[in-house]
Amino acid sequence: MNVKTQSTYKALLLAGFLFSLPITGLFTAAATSSPVFAKNTEKPKVTIIIDDVGNNESRGLRTVNLKGPVTLAILPDRPYSVSLANQAHQLGKELLLHAPMENLRDMPLGVGALTSDMSASQYRDQLIKNIDSIPHLMGLNNHMGSLLTTKHLQMNWTMQVLKDRNLLFVDSRTNPKSIAKEVAMLYDIPTVSRDIFLDHLRTPQFIAKQFEKCLKLATKNGTCLMIGHPYPETLNHLEKELPKLKKRGYQQQPLSQLIRNEGLARKAIRKPNQTRISTALSSNSSQ
Ligand SMILES: [Zn+2]
Repeated sequence: MNVKTQSTYKALLLAGFLFSLPITGLFTAAATSSPVFAKNTEKPKVTIIIDDVGNNESRGLRTVNLKGPVTLAILPDRPYSVSLANQAHQLGKELLLHAPMENLRDMPLGVGALTSDMSASQYRDQLIKNIDSIPHLMGLNNHMGSLLTTKHLQMNWTMQVLKDRNLLFVDSRTNPKSIAKEVAMLYDIPTVSRDIFLDHLRTPQFIAKQFEKCLKLATKNGTCLMIGHPYPETLNHLEKELPKLKKRGYQQQPLSQLIRNEGLARKAIRKPNQTRISTALSSNSSQ
């Protein structure tokens, strides 16, 4: 992890804090109805993450060049991980480490895999190596991970490293039973979960349907976080539709801003559930 990234992220957090000072009352006032979305005054906001970047240069470059604040989630130690990260950063895109985590279907994870048979030190060393392999990281989301994101022990190890490195966490939610976001909140790590997967069926019709579903959700809730992949079908759709969003009355929101606003809203609405916290922590030791 380079110092520059850490200081950039700290500056981002500080900016968020300063930004929040004069409008704390606004968030509190809005908390009874919709905490992150003042109705009638703000456009619905959509946030987009593209996962699995790093293996393919031309699709990676199409992703880097998507319109607006799209976040790239980059796999560690792939042929184009570093070059695409640098190019994305130059264009102001935000970056996550797309950490390969053990899944329930034994699908291959490739380089940088994090698995439940690793010791604490093996797990930590591999995660740190993954983080250090990509420049300009703002945080981490899970690649696969339908098994690992349900494990208290490994999620605690993950969040300890993220806390040390001042990195945020996005739960890709590959399993509805994931506890990852909850554990991140225990560590006071800025965090958010995916709302919509764009392209688990790779047809233009399905992708269009999922994209519209996310827009509807944003209209209802104020925000929507979608995750897609650098498939030609997905890139075709985003290249066509992102330039139209503004005219349609939507705003693309950077991931950092979505997470910051969610954190402020959480603080305005409620205190962390202490009972749940102690239950989650005590069950660590039994795993
Ligand atoms: Zn992935």
